[in-house]
Amino acid sequence: MFARSLNKIFNQKPQKLTVCQLGNPVLREIAEPIADVRDRDIQQLIDQMLIALKENKGVGLAAPQIGRSLQLVIIASHANERYPHAPQMEPTAMINPKLISHSVETEKGWEGCLSVPMIRGLVPRYCEIEVAYTDRLGDRQQIKLTDFVARIFQHEYDHLEGKVFLDRVETNLDLVSELEYQNILQTADQKAVLL
Ligand SMILES: [Zn+2]
Repeated sequence: MFARSLNKIFNQKPQKLTVCQLGNPVLREIAEPIADVRDRDIQQLIDQMLIALKENKGVGLAAPQIGRSLQLVIIASHANERYPHAPQMEPTAMINPKLISHSVETEKGWEGCLSVPMIRGLVPRYCEIEVAYTDRLGDRQQIKLTDFVARIFQHEYDHLEGKVFLDRVETNLDLVSELEYQNILQTADQKAVLL
């Protein structure tokens, strides 16, 4: 909050961020825990990540993706052209997140990643999870997440452990180009209309 008010006073706009892409070693590092959420640099980083997410039409972003190997993710599910069926939620910054428990049941679903452009993959993820994290005000939270939002969390949490969704696909046959993915989506919609 302190950093936010400072930004206001000096009328500073957060710097524009570039998203690191596959091959950048930072995506393979184990992210460090954040000692003080209220640190000005961390608050500014959260603001920058919120802007980067919006600009890139993402539904989630992890700090390593913008070159900072820190345990910080933002989950921001909303419907857009990249994810037309995503549920709506307030963008949520999660600091030092932990996966506490998960369902036995998993489900395969399509994922993409701003760090892996033009590729989509069918990735198995737990359907229900319980997670704990520190929010941007410094309070520890514990919540249950299901389906697509649970999937986003698991995808972003992987980034903190140096993993990308390509590491999670069961077979390379589950990888497709963005163009083919759009074709698959359209076919799926047509099926739904016919049913
Ligand atoms: Zn990603």
